Formats: sequence, C-alpha cells, structure tokens
Amino acid sequence: MKISIKSYPFTSILGWSASRYDTFNYCKRRYYYSYYAKFDQDIGKELIAKFKSMTSAALEVGIITHDIISAILQRVAKSTDPIDQNRLEAKVRIAVEETLRNKVMMEYFYGQRGEVRFDELFEPVMQSVTNFLNSDRFAWASGLDDSLRKLWVIEPEGFGETRLGGLKAYCKVDFMLFDGGKVYVLDWKTGKPDALKYTRQMIGYSLYAKEVTGLDLDHIQPTLAFLRDEYAEIAVEVKESDAAKFQEQVKLESQEMFDMTIDRDGNIPKEKSEFPMTENYMRCKLCEFRRLCGQG
Ligand code: SF4
Repeated sequence: MKISIKSYPFTSILGWSASRYDTFNYCKRRYYYSYYAKFDQDIGKELIAKFKSMTSAALEVGIITHDIISAILQRVAKSTDPIDQNRLEAKVRIAVEETLRNKVMMEYFYGQRGEVRFDELFEPVMQSVTNFLNSDRFAWASGLDDSLRKLWVIEPEGFGETRLGGLKAYCKVDFMLFDGGKVYVLDWKTGKPDALKYTRQMIGYSLYAKEVTGLDLDHIQPTLAFLRDEYAEIAVEVKESDAAKFQEQVKLESQEMFDMTIDRDGNIPKEKSEFPMTENYMRCKLCEFRRLCGQG
C-alpha cells in the first residue's frame, strides 16, 4: 500500500468544505463574520474573532474526544502496550480544565444557562473514549500487524486540502487505516447517530482517500463511528455515480461562494452589506455572533 498525501502550493482562492458551505447556507452574515472578518471596517477583526471563538459544551465534548482518541491512536501506532487508565483520566482532566479556563461558552455568555461544570465535559468524554477502547474496532485495529499500523493516517496535519473536480476543497479525515487491500476511513461522532446528515462529508472523505491511496472507491470503506451512548458504526456506501454527483454539487456550491467575492482568485469579498442577515430568528438563537447583530 502506498500513501501519498499531496501538499499543494498556497493559493488565496477559497476552498470548499462541508462546514464552509453549511455556514454559507445558514446565514450570509454569519459566513462573512466567520471567513472575512479581516475585511470588516465597522466592528474590527479582533472583536469578531472573540465572538467566533465562543464554543459550547457539546462542541467541546467532541473536540476533546477527538484529541484524546487521536493521541491514543498515535500511541497504538507505535506500541500496543495496554492503555494506562490513570494516565488516560489525567489527560482528559487536564484537557477539560484547560477548556474551562480558556474558552468562553456561548450559552453562558448569552445568559441561557449557568457556567459549564467540569463533569459536564469530563463524563461524556470519558464515556465516549471508554466506548471506543472497548469496541471491536479498536481491538481489531490494535491487533493489526506493525507494518500496517505504521501506515495509519490520524488527523493529518493541515486541513485535508484536496481537489474535487479540479477545485480546491478540504476533507480532513479522523482516521484512515488499511487491511486486506481495503482502506477504512473512520469518522468519530459524539452526537446522535444520523447517517443522512453526514453523507456528503463521507463522500468527500472517500474521494480524499482515493486521492492519497490511488485505490478505486470500491476498495474504500467510509464509516461513521458513534461513540456516545454505546459504540455503533454505520458503514456508508459510496459509488462512482454518488461521487460524480457530489463533485458536481461542490462545483455549484463553490460557484455560489465565488459569486460573493469581487476577486475570485484573491478571495476578496463583496461589501458586508451584500451578506444579509438571516430572517430566520431561530437560527440567531444558536449563533455565536448574535450580539453583533443586535439579536442577543
Ligand atoms: S445572529 Fe443571526 S443574523 Fe447574525 S450572523 Fe448569526 S445567524 Fe446571522
């Protein structure tokens, strides 16, 4: 098996990603604040960055769980000695304490709840990580030969830049491993099992795996791994026809985002006033920027 993760020379042009287009769809003003803060003349990029960095308990459970599983896999790639439970708990504890010390929780900031308690992060992270460690998937992966474990791709550096239909795109995988001529792409989820919600993301990951391994899609198995209540996997089937439709969609969506620039290659946006605020106020209730829009 040969893996070749390409690095592309820097270009300013925007790159499609599932999360970028989701933000674009959610609210154009939110998209502007998220991706073009440095062009904002009224509020300033520093203040926008403060709002952008706000987070939530649910998001942080996901982020810490990903970091811990990534660290476990990095370790197992080199050694299959048993995981030390005390060290694991200490690592999660430190990560949770750092989060609570350094990050502003959106629900607290907007007065929707009191401060997030340590246990609200620590317990779900430990539960998710423990479910993973007790899963057949972990036992199987840990039991793979040394030569295969050395090839693991675990949250590769950067943002997973790739090309979809010739356009810049980002598809960053959580974990990619190989066995029996097949590539498995696993994506950790700490929310409720919902395959439909993540189908596009998984097609993107399959195309990324195809690019770096040179294998056909029928040798690539994208899989959603839900960690929270119990370990459960959903294998997603991606056919060439799905991939072709997806690439067409990425092209259209990229064009919609290009249309909001005055300089496509330099990624210079139109005026902020061209990025309207959503009229769906329910969305504002979940948005980190609502004070900037006079909504909270
Ligand atoms: S508060 Fe509402 S209008 Fe403002 S950026 Fe967020 S979603 Fe858009």
